[in-house]
Amino acid sequence: MSNDFVAVDGPAGSGKSSVSKSAARALGYAYLDTGAAYRAVAWHTFNRGIDVNDSSAVIAGLQTFDYAIGTDPDEYFVRVGDEDITLAIREPRVTSVVSSVAKVPEVRTHVNQVFRDIMTAAPQPGIIVEGRDITTVVAPDARVRILLTASEEARAARRALELPAQDAGHTHEAMRKRDAADAKVSEFMVAAPGVHTVDSTDLDFQQTIDAVVDLIREGRDHQ
Ligand code: C5P
Repeated sequence: MSNDFVAVDGPAGSGKSSVSKSAARALGYAYLDTGAAYRAVAWHTFNRGIDVNDSSAVIAGLQTFDYAIGTDPDEYFVRVGDEDITLAIREPRVTSVVSSVAKVPEVRTHVNQVFRDIMTAAPQPGIIVEGRDITTVVAPDARVRILLTASEEARAARRALELPAQDAGHTHEAMRKRDAADAKVSEFMVAAPGVHTVDSTDLDFQQTIDAVVDLIREGRDHQ
């Protein structure tokens, strides 16, 4: 059997990272968090003292963007050069500007090639790749494509739990703004033809993982 590609997209707070990681663990698959690359580009831009809204400077910085990410769901890390930025890229200062670098077409082309190289090199039996445009742009030919959604309220409540130090209203507003900015670049609120929707609004974490794992197992075991 050739390597299995699974694509998962969804908005902020849909749980796609934690669900994809757990589904990968359950299936013995690799896992690729593509949002981390955009976050790392934003971090790299900051680190070089460059304005994230200066697209030409962001693009120039790609030449020194030496990026590495762990695809083993049990050994997740993100590095630029020698620096481990696994935690740094989750800081609100990165989250609040990541959409600005993600909208630059040259940035997308660059990281998409990185994603395709990682997917091609992934170990058997397969890899789950999650992001915003994986089902439509990065891996439209993936065997299974899933859009993971949840109501805005449910997603905001989950994000608030992840960021207890931050005011919940502020967290909700920041999430809404980021989704609105990202939605100008990729369609991840409505499933493209052939993409399965998993709505986790009324599912708990384990039920959501089970729904995703079932979709991946379906068909595969008959190939
Ligand atoms: O998934 P995560 O919240 O870590 O993604 C961070 C940001 O990276 C998103 O807000 C979006 O701007 C960008 N992104 C993207 N396309 C992807 C994955 C993430 O534009 N496939």
